[in-house]
Amino acid sequence: NPTVAIVGRPNVGKSTIFNRIAGERISIVEDTPGVTRDRIYAHSEWLGHPFNLIDTGGIDLGDEPFLEEIRSQAEIAIDEADVIVFIVSVKEGVSDADEAVAKILYTAKKPVILAVNKVDNPELRQEIYDFYSLGLGDPYPISGSHGLGTGDLLDAVIAEFPDNEEVVDDPAIRFSLIGRPNVGKSSMVNAILGENRVIVSDIAGTTRDAIDSRFQVDDDEFVMVDTAGIRKKGKVYENTEKYSVIRALKAIDNSDVVLVVLNAEEGIREQDKRVAGYAHEAGRGIIIVVNKWDTLKKDNHTLKDFENTIRSEFAYLSYAPIVFVSAKTKQRLEQLPALIKRVNTNHSRRVQSSALNDVVMDAIAINPTPSENGKRLRVYYATQVSTEPPTFVIFVNDPDLMHFSYARFLENQIRAAFDFEGTPVHLIERRRK
Ligand code: GDP
Repeated sequence: NPTVAIVGRPNVGKSTIFNRIAGERISIVEDTPGVTRDRIYAHSEWLGHPFNLIDTGGIDLGDEPFLEEIRSQAEIAIDEADVIVFIVSVKEGVSDADEAVAKILYTAKKPVILAVNKVDNPELRQEIYDFYSLGLGDPYPISGSHGLGTGDLLDAVIAEFPDNEEVVDDPAIRFSLIGRPNVGKSSMVNAILGENRVIVSDIAGTTRDAIDSRFQVDDDEFVMVDTAGIRKKGKVYENTEKYSVIRALKAIDNSDVVLVVLNAEEGIREQDKRVAGYAHEAGRGIIIVVNKWDTLKKDNHTLKDFENTIRSEFAYLSYAPIVFVSAKTKQRLEQLPALIKRVNTNHSRRVQSSALNDVVMDAIAINPTPSENGKRLRVYYATQVSTEPPTFVIFVNDPDLMHFSYARFLENQIRAAFDFEGTPVHLIERRRK
């Protein structure tokens, strides 16, 4: 999906407009441990065009001086976005800071839409003409607080989206490496690309070559997503936590399978959980990769102990396989492609309704459905409604009677019958009269 970035100096109303556009579609839901609701990145949609939205004003760049900070934010927007929405304020008119931002945006070969915020009443509309002086074309009057003008603005934004890029049916398995700085992602990227046959020419004419890396193992093609971002070691790359989160979210969006990379030397940190939580929420296939395995003095408990720690710290990722590797010594790296392929297969697995219903009915026979106030849960029928991740609808007499623990039991029975290793599965209860 295309990415839209919001830029502008402080107090022009960036986050108000972000929330208007994002609506309820904030990317992160709160019930995964370690994940807090994020206000700088969201999935949104306008007239059937989905896009990702970034509020660069929310990116915490540390203690940079004011002008430096808005400059960095504009640069991030230029790097990350397909379309940039530059917000100014009719209340303050054209400021020096606006001009500084405009100057940076000229250098971008990206479309920029100029939005003049705080046009809360019709009289103020005359004043938007001053903003032609920024040299960025027609200014769009909006009012974030009143919710005015955002429709026209979004029309202009989606008109600039790249034409439906290569919707070529690409058989490659897309995966990404995510994890906090220094866990060894770029070392792994280099080691994996060093070990496998890299395919240099991507699908003809796409611009993705520069960002992603394509390689082949036996007969399977893989695309490692956003390798450029991982390898690039600039000032803003990974040095600020929120920015690395945006990169991770984008990479997750573009992947079938996500490798959550941990550092054996440092153990598990809060940030690791957040990163893993995003991938889980997004419903991607997940593999937990413990890197720097060479650094530990090991006895015959070390691996099992580490595994137990991961299982208790990442309880919601119980489906994810764990691999212990070293980018340095290359230990077990050669196992990754086959594992990624397997998880990808499971992530897109579709099971037959008859087999599924056998499993569900057997499950109910082993462990009777719960009841409440004399009313027992009845399960009529289950069907798989989609893949990636596998999603099942279970028709019942009353969804409120489906307790969390019983849903978990059914999920485990389904997992025991079919191979869903590495993929979340979603169960949805529906009432059938
Ligand atoms: P990134 O920030 O996640 O991309 O991490 P890097 O790949 O830049 O690695 C951070 C540091 O860890 C570098 O000094 C690497 O040489 C080192 N490193 C990476 N992988 C390994 C490993 O498997 N073993 C050891 N001993 N060091 C590693």
